[in-house]
Amino acid sequence: MEINNLSKYYGAHKALDNVSLSIEPGTVTVILGPSGSGKSTLLRTINHLERVDEGFIQIDGDYIGYRRKGDTLYELKERAILKQRTHVGYVFQNFNLFPHMTVLDNIIEAPVVHGLLNRKQAIARAYELLDTVGLREKAHAWPRHLSGGQQQRIAIARALALNPKVMLFDEPTSALDPELVGEVLDVIKKLAQSGVTLVVVTHEIGFARQVADQVVFMVDGAVVESGSATQVLDRPVHKRTKAFLEKVL
Ligand code: ATP
Ligand code: MG
Repeated sequence: MEINNLSKYYGAHKALDNVSLSIEPGTVTVILGPSGSGKSTLLRTINHLERVDEGFIQIDGDYIGYRRKGDTLYELKERAILKQRTHVGYVFQNFNLFPHMTVLDNIIEAPVVHGLLNRKQAIARAYELLDTVGLREKAHAWPRHLSGGQQQRIAIARALALNPKVMLFDEPTSALDPELVGEVLDVIKKLAQSGVTLVVVTHEIGFARQVADQVVFMVDGAVVESGSATQVLDRPVHKRTKAFLEKVL
């Protein structure tokens, strides 16, 4: 995935300031930064949930939200945008499971609705994913009967059901009680080894150290520092990175 010179304004406020990142397939990128630095905005643009004002994003050569004709990018129609979104899985801070559906129905919903799998295939795939996240026995449970950690693991299974090229995680553990954080991070670590491309916004520095191929530090919508976990976490050069790490560590 290539993120090229992305800028995004909310009125006069620049939420993304000329962000460029190169994300290799199968790698893990961890995004750090203080509140309001544009981390969520950046993730949302990768799914075209937000329009950018400048720059573009490409996944496997396709422009996110646009198609190119000559030198011009034309915004895709809603249907094409929805289709493109099936390649990008999104896991939110607050799980956002469908409360009126069982765990199994939550997982099979998207592949069935998008016509990627029939119901029987989707159920078989859902059980594989439940094994991946260690929750096969919860297939018929209601989301409200699960712990936060379990709900988040189901949300991850649901996002994986479309076999996305890229998985985006926006502070996936920050709404959890401390004792439930580990089980969710363990699932994400397992995914990291499975070859899915992951982009994870998190303040879990230990996790970043263990799994990140690339750590990106943002301030005021801009990338101020990026590199390997060792470079950014152990030998930061920017004073804002140093100050941030002193606070979270
Ligand atoms: P946090 O760590 O608190 O989640 P963040 O790094 O994810 O912060 P963003 O949510 O991306 O930050 O917000 C970046 C900036 O853009 C902030 O100043 C925010 O107030 C502003 N912003 C975000 N969404 C909107 C919106 N829909 N309308 C106006 N301003 C917005
Ligand atoms: Mg955010």
